[in-house]
Amino acid sequence: MIGQPEFRRYLVNIDSGSMHQLFTDCLVIGAGIAGLRAAIEAARDHNVVVVCKGALHDSNTWKAQGGIASVLDKADTFESHIADTLNTGCGLSDEKIVDLVVRHGPELIEQLLRWGTEFDLTDGHIAATLEGGHTHPRIAHAHGDETGRVVAEVLIEKIRQNPKIKIIENFYTIDILTNDENQCIGIIGQDSQGLQIIFSAAIILATGGAGQLYRETTNPEVATGDGIAIGYRAGAVLADMEFMQFHPTTLYIAGASRALITETLRGEGATLLDKNGYRFMKDYHESAELAPRDIVSRAILSQMLKTESTHVYLDVRKFDKTYFEKRFPAINELCESFDIDISRDLIPVRPSAHYMVGGVKTDSSARTSIENLYACGEVAATGLHGANRLGSNSLLEGLVFGRIAGHQAPLNVRTDVAHIKHPPIKYQVPYSNRTRLDTTDVRNSLRALMWRNVGITRSDQPLEESQEIIRFWQRYVMDKIFDAPAGWECQNMLTVCLLMARSAQQRRESRGVHFRSDFPQTDDEQFKKHIEISHQG
Ligand SMILES: Cc1cc2nc3c(=O)[nH]c(=O)nc-3n(C[C@H](O)[C@H](O)[C@H](O)COP(=O)(O)OP(=O)(O)OC[C@H]3O[C@@H](n4cnc5c(N)ncnc54)[C@H](O)[C@@H]3O)c2cc1C
Repeated sequence: MIGQPEFRRYLVNIDSGSMHQLFTDCLVIGAGIAGLRAAIEAARDHNVVVVCKGALHDSNTWKAQGGIASVLDKADTFESHIADTLNTGCGLSDEKIVDLVVRHGPELIEQLLRWGTEFDLTDGHIAATLEGGHTHPRIAHAHGDETGRVVAEVLIEKIRQNPKIKIIENFYTIDILTNDENQCIGIIGQDSQGLQIIFSAAIILATGGAGQLYRETTNPEVATGDGIAIGYRAGAVLADMEFMQFHPTTLYIAGASRALITETLRGEGATLLDKNGYRFMKDYHESAELAPRDIVSRAILSQMLKTESTHVYLDVRKFDKTYFEKRFPAINELCESFDIDISRDLIPVRPSAHYMVGGVKTDSSARTSIENLYACGEVAATGLHGANRLGSNSLLEGLVFGRIAGHQAPLNVRTDVAHIKHPPIKYQVPYSNRTRLDTTDVRNSLRALMWRNVGITRSDQPLEESQEIIRFWQRYVMDKIFDAPAGWECQNMLTVCLLMARSAQQRRESRGVHFRSDFPQTDDEQFKKHIEISHQG
């Protein structure tokens, strides 16, 4: 078994005395649904700073289409939503966490409605739709397939009206600072002014996902898994790193971005055809196109292999064109931009990396293993999703755990002592004279390797080989001191990929989104447990 990733506590030299410093009561890293919701909650009694590495619209949240899962009508029950979540989680979901998240859903969605979210309505009530893995229509959506953007805009507006919250865009967080007692005391990052330190009594990590670790992904460029690597370097315990969910249907047109084609379409009757026009999903699962995502993804891959094709097709020809344009405006526009007439043509699709189930381990109060550090949203491993995420449960998790983190993190922070004087922090990266390098090339090679060897289907030898290759790349990337995000991202990606490959090799069974061709069965006796990692062992 390959050992720990190449380890360095901080990625840059630090001399706090000579660096620009900022102070706040509560710092939120990330401005997706989880970070924004956390900031609103924390600002009830405290000053809050939110930083994000790009613009506010650069997030997974902004791209979310399908909607937010919650019990919304009388015919549905909490028990049913809980059962569907547990069923999809394949024995690894934490039942207490599932219960907590599901039961808080309706209240938080009602709150979003009150704050001005224009959810789509039927007869004055939130319209609920069906998605794969759900046994009841319970997905609330807004402006058709633009739910994430609509919700994020409402949260951002609420934050803009609150003088206690300051948002700093284009601020790249490099590392979390910890003191000798292993308490989190602030962060070091870079904005247009250069390196900065933000001291904060409480820190909430909400940096989102890691889809960019794979060549094929639905995630935007910011989703490089920074928060996981930052947490790991600071000593936080990580969990479930082997579980990356692949979305079955992303647009496959050479040269185009892998735009997601929401599974709500399948929920509303779209079917999957292979290149011969054969509807193959019935051969793989009794629920056909509505089977859980991992099953649909693997079925598509297998059918692609069988038919020697690079993709399959989504058939939406039976949809009424006017309804489709209104219900799925973003997908309609996307198809039109590639001259796909949805009433006549099939949409070429294939799977790609979509949602990181694992991450920084938290408890039911969003606490990590490091004092003063909280985590919520996709970066966190709360135990909700187990070995697989039920569609549309992640925006819900972001809302619920965003609020919990925002409430818990500043609980013991006295506003009058936030500007506490910290002893100077000094850190010197050991000198290295090794060669300069092209991090874009490393990054592309890494993403291709992950897609090939740590993708939808895994087995021992390729997983072992991936770790050897990544460790080799680490030898000459991790010793560098970069001065821009591209370099730090590359270092973070190498760290996270190695941990993923290692966990995937360790789990010698198949469960949820983790499929081992050499161990195709689920092995409850040995593996009905979480794989946890920390650099402190
Ligand atoms: C195409 C697509 C469609 C989806 N559809 C749905 C859906 O319909 N329903 C559903 O429930 N889920 C959906 N998901 C998943 C869901 O969108 C995400 O899980 C969720 O939005 C994550 O929210 P978050 O707040 O944790 O992170 P994000 O929304 O990804 O936000 C992360 C934030 O962290 C910041 N950040 C990252 N690294 C750093 C750094 N180093 N320094 C500073 N800031 C940093 C980013 O700039 C960003 O602001 C979809 C995802 C995608 C990609």
